[in-house]
Amino acid sequence: MSKLIQTTHPVLNFRHPSFESFIWNTLIRIQSKPNASSYTNAIASPLSIYFRMRFHNVSPDLHTFPFLLTSFNSPFHLFSGQNIHSQILRFGFGSDPFVQTCLINMYSCCDNLACAHQVFDEIAEPDLPSWNSIVNANVKVGLVDVARRLFDKIPVKNVVSWSCMLNGYVKYEKYKECLGLFREMQKLGGDCVRPNEYTMSVLLSACGKLGALEHGNWVHAYIERCGMKIDDVLGTCLIDMYSKCGRVDRAKWVFDNLGSKKDVITWSAMITGFAMHGHSTESLAYFSEMVCSGIRPNAVTFLGVFCACVHAGLVNEGGAYFERMTREFGIFPSINHYGCMVDLYGRAGLIDKAWDVVNSMPMEPDALIWGALLSGSRIAGDIKSCEIAVKKLIELEPTNSAAYVLLSNVYAKLGDWKDVRNVRDLMQTKGVKKVPGCSLVELDGVIHEFFVGDESHPDTREIYMMLEEIMSRLKLEGYASNTGEVLLDLDEEAKEKALWLHSEKLALAFAILRTSAGTPICIVKNLRICRDCHVAIKMISNIYGREIVVRDCNRFHHFTKGICSCGDYW
Ligand code: ZN
Ligand code: ZN
Repeated sequence: MSKLIQTTHPVLNFRHPSFESFIWNTLIRIQSKPNASSYTNAIASPLSIYFRMRFHNVSPDLHTFPFLLTSFNSPFHLFSGQNIHSQILRFGFGSDPFVQTCLINMYSCCDNLACAHQVFDEIAEPDLPSWNSIVNANVKVGLVDVARRLFDKIPVKNVVSWSCMLNGYVKYEKYKECLGLFREMQKLGGDCVRPNEYTMSVLLSACGKLGALEHGNWVHAYIERCGMKIDDVLGTCLIDMYSKCGRVDRAKWVFDNLGSKKDVITWSAMITGFAMHGHSTESLAYFSEMVCSGIRPNAVTFLGVFCACVHAGLVNEGGAYFERMTREFGIFPSINHYGCMVDLYGRAGLIDKAWDVVNSMPMEPDALIWGALLSGSRIAGDIKSCEIAVKKLIELEPTNSAAYVLLSNVYAKLGDWKDVRNVRDLMQTKGVKKVPGCSLVELDGVIHEFFVGDESHPDTREIYMMLEEIMSRLKLEGYASNTGEVLLDLDEEAKEKALWLHSEKLALAFAILRTSAGTPICIVKNLRICRDCHVAIKMISNIYGREIVVRDCNRFHHFTKGICSCGDYW
């Protein structure tokens, strides 16, 4: 530190007796701003300014520490943070509420939750900011349940407390809990808990992830009722929500109404929205329009563009965009972009080209790359590539159940039940559990959840009777189950039954049962839709005259009159 103190600089080398602490504090404040220029950064860090202040025998006051503490914002700064903490205690500012909150935040930023809790626990009567900080510190490391317990203890919560907790639920994929908590917030009412734009963006993200259109519609209406301005940020959230809830037409409506308030993030959301729904022509047209209007695409925009090419099987176009990305826009492909290219060639059955991409990558292929190659070679029936990819995948992610499932599906397709069992044994010895298929359907604002073979729904009996009826009508129309993808080594009849009980079929039977004729149905599935369900749902859309939208983990399928928007290519 002595070296820092000896450094002389015209700005900092004041030895004037009237050099008051507030000037030092001001210097610390300026330097602790995240965007302090690199020139000033070269002069001194907030910490070194503090030591200079002490060197000049100026005592710190209440305003010295808060800004100083905000400059310690990564685990790397923990030691300095602790050092300043002891200075705070030495100068007797340890019981100042503002300083305490800053200490909690500092320890949280330095990834030391234990110290953050220690500071909090020592506060006799925590004020709202320190409550909010400790809740946030727990949310940050994923201890959402601990955060919730602390949250429930806050005597009077403000919008920051609520938004922080809601955001915690979304961040750790507890979307239903997020919507449930928002309902509680609504019940309280009153001005102190009026949600703001940030709260709304968090909620929209939860609705999008769940595919909960009714909730999403409600949030949109609420935003308008409150007179919140739909700017580019909120607009982008709405576009994203509507796209993910199967209403790309509404997404487009929001997009069109944003007027000139559109930035690259908004455009990218719209381009990706079209792509997810298989509207590749629109997606690529919007990309051209965006570039023509002078907005530079970024790496995310190109992910949307590649997604459009992948879903429509536009192999040559995809290759051309990939080249343009670097040549015209100076964006170097990330591993995600390479992943799209492998996916593009793999799905088109061009396994050699997919391998060329893998071999040309400047970085080590990750699980996504091998996953894309795996599903591509699986469609193409290239067992050798399949095996290589799955082995790499299992090497990288020993608990990735999808990899094992895909490999055993390949063997199942070949009727090689011995190898299917080997893979299943391997899963067992490694303790890998298959992620259960789960489908959601929202009716009258309630989200119903179905797992494979689920019998937990209160209306189970009726649902199974409905399913039985649907399946027999399908059989009359010539449906034969596609048992090729069933994992288990079962006889044909049992295999057929296993397919009947897929979560999307249960959700669909329930929706047909509970909605009036002609009502469109939207189902969200956590895994990829299987061939058999795809065939069955196409037929159901025709026989029952329903428009059915299924969002699986890859894309949207719009089923109408016996046809799917994906053109059986997914
Ligand atoms: Zn299925
Ligand atoms: Zn489809």
